[in-house]
Amino acid sequence: MNKEGILSRLREENVEKLETLWREADNVRAAHVGDAVHLRGLIEISNVCNRRCAYCGLRADNRSIGRYRMTTEEIMLCVHDAVDYGYGTVVLQSGEDEGITGSWMSELIRRIKAETGLAVTLSLGERAGEELLAWRKAGADRYLIRFETSNRKLYELIHHRKGARPSDRLAILENLRTMGYETGSGVMIGIPGQTYEDLARDIILFRELDLDMIGVGPYLPHPETPLGKNDGDFPAAGVEQVPNTELMTYKVIALSRLACPEANIPSTTALATVNRQEGRELGLQRGANVVMPNLTPPEYRVLYEIYPGKACIHETAGACASCLNMRIISINRRTGTGPGGRRKRALTHMGQNLNVNERG
Ligand code: SAH
Ligand code: SF4
Repeated sequence: MNKEGILSRLREENVEKLETLWREADNVRAAHVGDAVHLRGLIEISNVCNRRCAYCGLRADNRSIGRYRMTTEEIMLCVHDAVDYGYGTVVLQSGEDEGITGSWMSELIRRIKAETGLAVTLSLGERAGEELLAWRKAGADRYLIRFETSNRKLYELIHHRKGARPSDRLAILENLRTMGYETGSGVMIGIPGQTYEDLARDIILFRELDLDMIGVGPYLPHPETPLGKNDGDFPAAGVEQVPNTELMTYKVIALSRLACPEANIPSTTALATVNRQEGRELGLQRGANVVMPNLTPPEYRVLYEIYPGKACIHETAGACASCLNMRIISINRRTGTGPGGRRKRALTHMGQNLNVNERG
């Protein structure tokens, strides 16, 4: 699939041709990662953020939300919930919170590893290289950091430098890979100024980066952010502007699956937000193979407002677990067991294609 091929499918409006795209993506998903839907329990451990990404409700300048940071004990209760619900992985996510110190996090990772058999995924923003390395050594398996757009100009417009350090999520991804992390990245769909060409290049970059996990979701404007207010500093929508729609999200999920057959691809909460009834299921039927049930205690969950109107914000962890299990069964899929790391195909010296290296 070259760029022209991706572009024409991103622009596709013909219903039958779209059905063909969904079918192809679903077949590739079944052939390469199977019918299991892996469950990653999400714990939003802090909504404190020292960055100012132009699109995000957690940005430091947003004074309209109350801030929290969970304690180790509170987090461990959620981790044990993950074990009880049969999840294979916990994802610890937060704003880029300097109050989460390198050593505190290392200690937490060691404790999770000592008390459970769970895989640990981190999504804590652009942290320093030495911290990322220390967390890997403490036992963290995976790291998620979306590069958001491959258009460098647009990237710089929406990501501010922090002190002397310019934002560079692609450099961090490379670094994470050399440290032995499974790496996850992705983009928002329909950021103001994002063109079809940009989005096609994003998908090609997913393949070039050889990502283990690819998370994509629609951009949802937050009124307390510069991009959400669209205060004139950002590009006006042109004819080449990608819409931030549900349909475009399915197209990107499906094309990501075709570009990266072995990757773990979640059907995201942002997608469930734009179609509460069946967004999750349709994502899973059009290329995705992962869901991330939320384990965050409800009193904190409501404060983790990356974008407004987020789906599942008032649910309890137990309600999320049974809701997602039912949704998976309803589409004739099964829940995965174990950590559900990426299955990589590798060539043996005989030149045969074998499924080896079940990482994580
Ligand atoms: N601080 C970490 C993790 C939290 S943000 C980080 O930045 O990586 C996780 C993701 O939420 C971001 O990468 C972005 O893709 C998504 N996000 C932020 N604001 C959003 C918005 N307004 N609409 C949709 N997704 C958004
Ligand atoms: Fe902070 Fe992440 Fe939001 Fe950027 S995207 S403001 S780093 S929480």
